[in-house]
Amino acid sequence: MGYQYTRERDYKEGLISSNLQLVNFQMGDDLEDGVTPREFFDRNNKRIDKLRITLFDNDGKIIFTSEKGECSVIMAHFEERIISIGSANIVKQIYNDQEYIYAITRHNDITICSSLPYSISFIEVFSDNNAFLIVIIAISVLISIIGYITSTLYRSLESATKELDKEHEVALREEQDKIRLKRQLTNNINHELKTPVCSILGYTEMIMNNPDISMESCRTFVGKAYDQAERLRHLMTDLSTITRIDEAGEMIDKESVDLHKMVDDLIDDVMPQSEKQNITIKSNICEPTVVYGNHSLLYSIFRNLVDNAIAYSGGRCIWIDLKSESDDAYYFSVRDNGIGIEQKHLQYIFERFYRVDKGRSRKLGGTGLGLSIVKNAVLFHGGIIEARIEELGGLEFVFSLKK
Ligand code: ADP
Repeated sequence: MGYQYTRERDYKEGLISSNLQLVNFQMGDDLEDGVTPREFFDRNNKRIDKLRITLFDNDGKIIFTSEKGECSVIMAHFEERIISIGSANIVKQIYNDQEYIYAITRHNDITICSSLPYSISFIEVFSDNNAFLIVIIAISVLISIIGYITSTLYRSLESATKELDKEHEVALREEQDKIRLKRQLTNNINHELKTPVCSILGYTEMIMNNPDISMESCRTFVGKAYDQAERLRHLMTDLSTITRIDEAGEMIDKESVDLHKMVDDLIDDVMPQSEKQNITIKSNICEPTVVYGNHSLLYSIFRNLVDNAIAYSGGRCIWIDLKSESDDAYYFSVRDNGIGIEQKHLQYIFERFYRVDKGRSRKLGGTGLGLSIVKNAVLFHGGIIEARIEELGGLEFVFSLKK
């Protein structure tokens, strides 16, 4: 807009200057032809509104002025000054707050000074140039819209890229974690398998290398080898369960499972051990509490938690409770009133092969995979699980299962 204003102003000034110069030349010619200054002025004043003409002789005296009265004298003196300072043909001057353009021409012994007041304000330029103003505003609006769209697009692209980067980072970390866990698992498996296999080899070698061994010792060694083989079988079963959930989750069959009946059966199944240790098991799971899932995995969740409470807690009671339910999930708790575990173990307890008391776990035939199976099975059924240390002693496992 500034550029357009300057352009318009230069154009107008140029137009006025050339008109005034033309007037001066014409006047010079007309004066030679005998036309009086007044006649010339009257003729041209009709054509050019607000035109002023003053003539000076060589001594700078006023020969003619178009203005009348006192004003004419003041104006004429003002023009005198202009002539003295104006070496150029065209001079711009301000008089009485009004801008004037003067054209000064020497013709023989006369100096012709014609002038026109002019003003050109910013608003004037643009009120005369509606079309230009509209185009400028339209372009500005268009540029603003394009700017807004571009910046919005840029911002959303930036956030999408950041989101994608974050997702990639998470995926990469998950992949690295998986590889690390797999390597850890392989190392642990080797270690866990070695112990029973070495024991079995040891006992059988002992029998083979001692042909005179007594029947009783032979029965003892065979019994020990059998126990180790049992442990090996147990380990294989647990490993295959974990691998099944990990690698072929989508192949696992699902059906409607009534957890009320399943937990009742479970209590019957563990009765021999619980009675032997004088432990009472209570359940409040009402009928029907139905989950769409895999029966054997659901059973292993409750079974591992109850087996652990019987084996490690040293408590007198185990509670299997349905705490609450939402539209799409059940919330359970399995807790005991035993010794619990130290806080520092809590964060590792679901890791594969993690045991609080290694010796006791092995002695009791534990594989260190029980809680890892529980966690994977809960996740498989769309739930989450966490372990809590009970204030009055004992351990509580709280978990959800999708209906
Ligand atoms: P394990 O095969 O040794 O039983 P788990 O993964 O089932 O392996 O359990 C991990 C460890 O958590 C166990 O070795 C045991 O020390 C501890 N644990 C599990 N449940 C209880 C409980 N109810 N009370 C005390 N300790 C427990």
